[in-house]
Amino acid sequence: MSKVAVIIVAAGRGTRAGGDVPKQYQILAGQMVLSRAIAAFDAHPSIGQIIVVHHSDDVNLYEQATSAPARLTPVGVMGGKTRSASVLAGLAAVSTDTKLVLIHDGARPLVSQNVIDRVLASLATNDAAAPAIGVVDALWRGVDGAVQSPQSREGLYRAQTPQGFDIKQLRDAYLKLDGPAADDVEVAIKAGIEVAIVQGDEANLKITTADDFARAEAILRAKNPPDFRVGNGYDVHRFGTGDHVWLCGVKIPHARGLQGHSDADVGMHALTDAIYGALGLGDIGVHFPPSDPQWKGAASHIFLDHAMDAARKRGFEIGNADVTLVCEYPKIGPLQHDMRAVLANIMNTDISRISVKATTSERLGFTGRKEGIASLATVTLRSI
Ligand code: MG
Repeated sequence: MSKVAVIIVAAGRGTRAGGDVPKQYQILAGQMVLSRAIAAFDAHPSIGQIIVVHHSDDVNLYEQATSAPARLTPVGVMGGKTRSASVLAGLAAVSTDTKLVLIHDGARPLVSQNVIDRVLASLATNDAAAPAIGVVDALWRGVDGAVQSPQSREGLYRAQTPQGFDIKQLRDAYLKLDGPAADDVEVAIKAGIEVAIVQGDEANLKITTADDFARAEAILRAKNPPDFRVGNGYDVHRFGTGDHVWLCGVKIPHARGLQGHSDADVGMHALTDAIYGALGLGDIGVHFPPSDPQWKGAASHIFLDHAMDAARKRGFEIGNADVTLVCEYPKIGPLQHDMRAVLANIMNTDISRISVKATTSERLGFTGRKEGIASLATVTLRSI
């Protein structure tokens, strides 16, 4: 079978969903609605060309929506004054060797590979095919807020897209079209083309109102459960000469200093290692080798920034972090809030998600003998 073209119609101004931009350019779970629709067809091996009809006011938005790397580079086409004119503009951009075309609504971001498969399978034996869902609710006709009469739901369907056609037949149908049409199936029916119904999908909803965004997000969440990660970190630095220590980003005047290659912020090091651990990325030493002189005396927030960056690049944000400092002195209690605030600021999260605690070791061991400070940290990350 030669490859199939899809025309994604995204020239509408739909603002019933609220927001400053048309609904197809609004963000649904981190990605534009239109980008999701495009990606669904990009992922289908039978699709050989993606044409996106958009509005001349939306050129910048369209470029954002199509900026991600993809198998197919979408062909952008300016829409017309009516839906029919937009589809015709899209049809004109289909490459000449194409026999079958799907027309999809840019506001249906959750179209599944199965629905596309069913439409394509039906086109093997039918001139046209479209997905739909049988009506199960009782139907009424109402007048002035009161039920006037129950209606039969027998043989009634809720139409979806993509709607599939022989491209030549659909072009001819549009040329014959007189007056408006709600969708391409209506255009085809008016031209005498028989359209087969295939099983649609409740998840293939058309985003129209703000509620639809919430429904679509819930569907995506159910399909892609969040990814949670836990990491732990442990670090020790020895006391030496000095007049201050850095702990969790706070400079504390002290009779001795902590020794280390960087500023020796043992709390921030344990926390940073916990983040690397949650990501399976080793520890600070891997990313900032002590043998490299450029990190000598470095402020440790560089390490924490780097670990947070690595988390974000992999699609994670901080769930929470818990740091414990083990030392006889300095006294941490009065500084806990400042430490939490500094860490929350670096990690771009709320202070309520960051804990800093301190304990002594009852004068036992190296921390008890005041030879150094140890720190433990636990972090959770969650997928964005
Ligand atoms: Mg260290």
